[in-house]
Amino acid sequence: MQKKLFQLLFIIFLSIVLPLNALALKSGDKAKSWKKGSVGNRSAKSSKQKKVTPAEVEKQVEPALVKELRHWSNPDYTRIAVSLDREAKFVYHRLPPNREQNIPPRLYIDIEGAHVAPGVKDITIGDGLMKGARIAQFRPDTVRVVLDLDSMKDFKVFTFSDPFSIIIDVKGERQTEISSAAAPSISVLPAAPEPRPVRAEEKKTTPALRPAIGKIRRIVVDAGHGGHDPGALGAGGTREKDIVLQIALKVSRKLRDELGLDVVMTRSTDVFIELKERTAIANKVGADLFVSIHANAALNRNSNGIETYYLNLAKTQKVAQLAALENGTTLEKVSLLQAVLFDLMANYKLNDSAHLADDVQKAVISKVGGKYTGVKNLGVKQGPFYVLVGATMPSILVETAFLSNEREEARLNDPAYQDLTAEGILDGIREYIASVK
Ligand SMILES: [Zn+2]
Repeated sequence: MQKKLFQLLFIIFLSIVLPLNALALKSGDKAKSWKKGSVGNRSAKSSKQKKVTPAEVEKQVEPALVKELRHWSNPDYTRIAVSLDREAKFVYHRLPPNREQNIPPRLYIDIEGAHVAPGVKDITIGDGLMKGARIAQFRPDTVRVVLDLDSMKDFKVFTFSDPFSIIIDVKGERQTEISSAAAPSISVLPAAPEPRPVRAEEKKTTPALRPAIGKIRRIVVDAGHGGHDPGALGAGGTREKDIVLQIALKVSRKLRDELGLDVVMTRSTDVFIELKERTAIANKVGADLFVSIHANAALNRNSNGIETYYLNLAKTQKVAQLAALENGTTLEKVSLLQAVLFDLMANYKLNDSAHLADDVQKAVISKVGGKYTGVKNLGVKQGPFYVLVGATMPSILVETAFLSNEREEARLNDPAYQDLTAEGILDGIREYIASVK
């Protein structure tokens, strides 16, 4: 019975896949392996080196499931995310256009040992960079995602964890205005300053008490982690996700009440939000600033202090380790991310972010250090944090204190300390806004 069903499914797959196959190969283009699978192949190598137990063999036979195909249209790049229920090997290729047959340039990604989940469908994009993305079971064990492009200057492929996602960023010359593009799954709002729509849950609590100051009107406050991801854990049982939510709620309230800013929180409850979703929210609502709030952790229980990050290559091993922790990934993956980071940062406001980080770091140190003893200023640093990748506005990550340090864990749990930290972050943002007026 099951066998028959499988055969039937296979026939359906073939009928879907054959035309796709024909399209890829009939055009006469050799499948050029341009920067072939640099991300996928390395992880393949490392898994080969491992000794495999029979139980693991069983596990490996089960295919990974492609659960989602999404896209985001940004002003100068289009991002595709293919999310799976587990890590999988993949390779990618670029095919030049075939003008005789009117076939556009394409990128395709073959994901090995994978199946497409029911309900995952082709998407029409039409944003001037990409016509659309097609997905199909190319071979019984291989899923192929084909991106039909309008134009492409460059592209980058990298992965995210939790859930494992293959991200493809395509940069190029946009031929049509993004706002007139055909119904994207998530579109970017026009850059016009106001009025901008607000998420329903924020609307009730966002009275415009005072006109927002200067160029900065909307800010996204991101409480790190949440849901099944607790973040760092203190020896006393404190979970980073709880502490940073409390601080983020306080910061958001102050930004609304005292600066009259329009605040969007990536989460205001204990829910899990993917890292890539967080900056996507900021881009989508047209935020002017993005502030991610975290608590630090280190193997050395004596490590303590406050530090603020903006996106860049890690300068020390310690920073790379922290990025691995915050990214929910391994050091190896962080170094892979570093390899493509410079290109990913084309839209990142590096100088403005450094400036914002500096203002916030100084203000938090001044506030907290004014009341508490032994507050260490660890300064402004640079690190490869996934949560900042893709942000098109000045964006920073604040490490409020160390949960791995006994004294700081106790402080982080203290509402008075949380308040002061929130006030410090507010002061820093106020300072930054005044300087860009
Ligand atoms: Zn964190």
